[in-house]
Amino acid sequence: MLGLMQNHPLLISSLITHAERHHAEAAIVSRRVEGDVHRTTWGGIAKRSRQVANALNTLGLSRGDRVATLAWNGYRHLELYFGVSGAGYVLHTLNPRLHPEQLAWIVNHAEDSVLVFDTTFLPLVKAVHTQCPTVKHWIALCDAAAVPADSGVPGLQSYEAWMGQQPDTYDWPQFDEHTASSLCYTSGTTGNPKGVLYSHRSTVLHAYGAALPDALNLSSRDSIMPVVPMFHANAWAVPYSAAAVGAKLVFPGGALDGKSVYELMEAEQVTMAAGVPTVWQMLLGHMEAGGLRFGTLQRTVIGGSACPPAMMDTFKQRYGVDVIHAWGMTEMSPLGTVCILKGHQEGLAADAQRSVRLKQGRVVYGVDMKIVDPDSGAELPWDGKTYGDLLVRGPWVTAGYFKLDNSALLKDGWFHTGDVATIDADGFMQITDRSKDVIKSGGEWISSIDVENIAMAHPAVAMAACIGMPHPKWDERPIVVVVKKPGAQLSREELLAFYEGKTAKWQTPDDVVFVEAIPLGATGKMQKMKVREQLADYRLPIA
Ligand code: ADP
Repeated sequence: MLGLMQNHPLLISSLITHAERHHAEAAIVSRRVEGDVHRTTWGGIAKRSRQVANALNTLGLSRGDRVATLAWNGYRHLELYFGVSGAGYVLHTLNPRLHPEQLAWIVNHAEDSVLVFDTTFLPLVKAVHTQCPTVKHWIALCDAAAVPADSGVPGLQSYEAWMGQQPDTYDWPQFDEHTASSLCYTSGTTGNPKGVLYSHRSTVLHAYGAALPDALNLSSRDSIMPVVPMFHANAWAVPYSAAAVGAKLVFPGGALDGKSVYELMEAEQVTMAAGVPTVWQMLLGHMEAGGLRFGTLQRTVIGGSACPPAMMDTFKQRYGVDVIHAWGMTEMSPLGTVCILKGHQEGLAADAQRSVRLKQGRVVYGVDMKIVDPDSGAELPWDGKTYGDLLVRGPWVTAGYFKLDNSALLKDGWFHTGDVATIDADGFMQITDRSKDVIKSGGEWISSIDVENIAMAHPAVAMAACIGMPHPKWDERPIVVVVKKPGAQLSREELLAFYEGKTAKWQTPDDVVFVEAIPLGATGKMQKMKVREQLADYRLPIA
């Protein structure tokens, strides 16, 4: 017997319709590439997303055609989030930090028909447009006057001229909620980029899940700054969830330096921010240098890479800001776990609470996870100690990559995350490593994240990457590659001594290599593959 409830498809257009009807006045503030700060509202975004839909409908596209964006976080990108998907096309967010060749490869693989870009990225567009034959329409996110006459990009149009003349009335089409809505390629930290194709249903369910109190805890009372880019993994659902709850959004655009982010946060009374650790490093550096304080910021969600404990402590102890650790991946829309204490843990001593908060957290309802033995596949206990391969499943977890053979991707319906983790009795998951970064020393595993975290807690260290080096007796031994803070003094011996008492002797790195910089990937993560390449001639000091 079937239930007798209405059957409304879960469509992205319903989010913007809701935001307009119930939160039309809530502000959307954007720092623009033009240099100013632009203000609109959810009502304004709703109108202009319908204009975008009308403009797209004049291009002769078919449903499901890909419309790519190469854009910072801002109101125009937000309009495209709703306008493109809402009209039945697929929003393909491109990562502008990719190498031009890789970008062209992705555009061709996705067969993008339209490419809309911030003018900052014109040089990139000039570099790739001849290699992108599927793209028939190039649109610059600016006024007509700002489009350079000599851009060299054929038929380049201004976004404002293209969509600005369109009517702002439009009836969003209704279709199957399983229809593809958006596409995002993994940044290729682990091999070739692979396209993750989200659906309207997965996006709306994910937006619900992300807004929950024990997830990102979003409400109409929040002023949210997503520093995490809209070009990568849907800015952790913030654009969609904010529409569902009617939150104010504050977009930093391309100005991600500490000063710009801080000033915008203060001016717009941001209560909640979200981003990867590298961005917060710049913000904290700026605040420390200027003796600054946050006026309104209550919490910041940090994910994408492990949050160094020292960063969490600084936020809490110096600035009174709660860091909420979260974990996910492009393949998971991206939210998997969020670290919020359970009721019975709130009475724990500060130290015990801190060690829970440093974990990546509990699953959001909708995601199921388990850890398994890498060889036998047997499920491992949730004791907080046993580590194994982390597997996930759920309605916002990928079932296959765009245009690839996916027959062997899932094992009994579970997706292999490539992460190695423990899960404790309360269900808190902790990432030990990416499986390829784990260091295997004398049959035991050493977590590169643990080694990095200790180095990062040293006041002279700006960034640290731990990698395994071949060793004749132990197979592999960890070394730590370190970037010092500007002007700081630190010797190899001092840093190694700093490990004493903080970890077991055999988990202490064998050597310290100081470098000027650690290469970061397109999503701000350390590229250990590149670090390894740089150290191709390095040899471990073997006693
Ligand atoms: P890629 O960088 O390969 O495109 P994603 O950006 O989707 O992939 O990153 C997913 C991966 O990032 C996860 O599998 C995990 O290894 C890492 N990651 C994400 N959040 C965290 C976190 N809070 N702690 C540690 N690692 C994390």
